[in-house]
Amino acid sequence: MKRLGILFVISGPSGAGKGTVLGKLRSEVENLSISVSATTRNPRNGEANGVHYLFCSKDKFKEMIDNNEFLEYINKFDNYYGTPKAPVEQLLNEGKDVVLEIETMGAANVRQMFPNAVLIFITPKSFDELKRRLDKRGSENPKDRAARLEIAKTELDSMTQYDYIAVNNDVRSCINTLKAIISAERTKMARNPELINTLTSRDN
Ligand code: 5GP
Repeated sequence: MKRLGILFVISGPSGAGKGTVLGKLRSEVENLSISVSATTRNPRNGEANGVHYLFCSKDKFKEMIDNNEFLEYINKFDNYYGTPKAPVEQLLNEGKDVVLEIETMGAANVRQMFPNAVLIFITPKSFDELKRRLDKRGSENPKDRAARLEIAKTELDSMTQYDYIAVNNDVRSCINTLKAIISAERTKMARNPELINTLTSRDN
């Protein structure tokens, strides 16, 4: 029996620092692929097509929906975001572990499809800290600020559907937490049928 790859799902409110942490994980953990989502939103400064996202038009995205090319997708902030199905399935079948960085509704959908997926929630240490980081990022417009906070609250309220919580107070310690989770999941007995078979099928 071959070892299938593990599907890790990482979510967290805007301002949790997911991007920085994932960038480091990519370079520090072997045999781990970060899935590249498709989106209809415009690229931000420094974002490259095929690296941060596959940027596409709404028409193209809808065509992909019709062709059943997404594992899951959502329509958020007036834009579509979706996880392309084929590369994720291929990697998992090859025994490679995959990380999806998606929001909480997508995570719930993935959990339904992949009950063995490992859901990790990244968060700042307190709500006040989250507010501070959101303020630093966003405009001063009170309406925008209130909307950002509402979204953050909804995301925090979905936290209990996750298997692990990783506090990102200090980037290095958050990365170490994620590495520990990945290591623990990889060494679970049930995830290593091939190794078990080798060790238990003895001639004498
Ligand atoms: P941003 O526009 O800031 O890059 O992302 C907005 C939100 O969309 C983030 O919470 C991010 O995790 C989420 N997101 C990015 N890609 C996907 C995806 O493929 N599926 C889902 N469900 N959410 C996604």
